[in-house]
Amino acid sequence: MPVPLLERITADTLQPESADVVIIGAGIAGVSAALNLAEAGLKVVVCEKGLVGAEQSSRNWGWVRQMGRDQAELPLTMRSLKLWRQLDAKYGIDTGFRETGITYVARTRAEERELTDWSKIGGAANLNSRVLGPAELEALLPGIAPRFRMGLYTADDGRAEPGKAAPAIARAAQKLGATFLENCAVRGIETTAGRVSSVVTEHGTIRTSATIVAAGAWSRLFLGNMGLNFPQLKVLGTAARVEDVANVPTMPVGGGDFAFRETLDGAFYVALRNYNIAPLTPDHFRLFLDYLPVLMKSWRELNLRLTGLFFSELKVPRSWSLNEETPFEKMRILDPAPHMPFNIRALTTLRTAFPNFAPARITHNWAGIIDTTPDAVPAIGPIEQVPGLHIASGFSGHGFGIGPGAGELIAEIVRGVKPAVDPKPFRFDRFGKTQSPKLQVAA
Ligand SMILES: Cc1cc2nc3c(=O)[nH]c(=O)nc-3n(C[C@H](O)[C@H](O)[C@H](O)COP(=O)(O)OP(=O)(O)OC[C@H]3O[C@@H](n4cnc5c(N)ncnc54)[C@H](O)[C@@H]3O)c2cc1C
Repeated sequence: MPVPLLERITADTLQPESADVVIIGAGIAGVSAALNLAEAGLKVVVCEKGLVGAEQSSRNWGWVRQMGRDQAELPLTMRSLKLWRQLDAKYGIDTGFRETGITYVARTRAEERELTDWSKIGGAANLNSRVLGPAELEALLPGIAPRFRMGLYTADDGRAEPGKAAPAIARAAQKLGATFLENCAVRGIETTAGRVSSVVTEHGTIRTSATIVAAGAWSRLFLGNMGLNFPQLKVLGTAARVEDVANVPTMPVGGGDFAFRETLDGAFYVALRNYNIAPLTPDHFRLFLDYLPVLMKSWRELNLRLTGLFFSELKVPRSWSLNEETPFEKMRILDPAPHMPFNIRALTTLRTAFPNFAPARITHNWAGIIDTTPDAVPAIGPIEQVPGLHIASGFSGHGFGIGPGAGELIAEIVRGVKPAVDPKPFRFDRFGKTQSPKLQVAA
């Protein structure tokens, strides 16, 4: 069965002629930006080629985690967690957020070292993370196998429901006046005197002076048609839902080769942690030098494979004019096949770590395409070469947790107000300042 339970919104049906801001993509980043902009009184239109939340934002594990984050990302992650805590009460919605705490457990010396090293980063950022010895670990995570001798616990990390969160935030934004259009692919952007002047969708044109590309795994292709190089590659993440489990921890737990999280209805999401498949695509060759350091560092975890995706991507046009059908209309929802051996292996390793998972029965398997940047940090901010064009993308497998914070940050940048966190680490131009956009000039 495919990805479990994506809640639906009642989408708007009339495409407005103009907007203060048009957002391209209704994943967690796009809907969170819409919420912040609508709350500030701006007229916002969100265009989604498929359904709200249907790609990465509903396919993830649901971990809302500060622990283990890149130092550059930590202030935004901490801010985002603060927002997650307020969302449900403030807007009367149900994102499924629970402040459960999260624990990483270590079995090998190398894993122990990794946790100890990161605890120093967390400590420096005043994060509520604590290294646990064997007795504390057993008390916090009853039923854990004795071979785990150390853990790292962050009490105020948590979890939310991926099938609920993006639609719930979209509904809150709709209440504040934002328009959400589903089955509405954006083909491109038109400019006047070098600045954004309209967004062209499959249904017509929306006049606007500001737009945010929050297109997840599609952002590179979209910007490529404008002559902009956003280095972004695709990784396949696979997960499973299991039922019939009792007496296991209710907080998310991750080991070297497993991860699990309890869902609101008492089932568990299970996955093989630190293992993803990187299907080779033509972009691997185009971006080889950008990604070389990552390839060298994470070779073991990446599992580069030649699959059908290489040949299907070769056929995807990389440029088009705005009056023709685009790749976004041809693929409404990216719904890749899960890699079943990973799910089976995840459950096997999990049963060794927590024997009470023995009776677990897999009820769903699914996958999602994760978009990654060369430094695994997202791009959030203006694209200086085209005034009015902004990006919030490249979340590199962490975007669910930082989604509300990223949405707030890009909304603050678009509004020109002082951001709650320093936007510098997320600058688009860190990928190269010498971009030469090919502008589609408005008629
Ligand atoms: C298996 C898996 C596990 C994960 N686990 C976690 C986790 O536990 N915690 C965590 O923080 N993160 C996790 N992630 C990562 C997280 O899900 C993503 O980083 C995050 O959802 C990205 O959000 P987004 O809004 O950028 O993209 P998406 O949710 O992918 O949304 C982008 C949207 O843009 C739309 N779009 C694209 N092009 C166009 C266009 N031209 N016109 C209109 N619409 C367009 C797409 O249809 C899509 O709906 C995981 C991801 C996967 C796949």
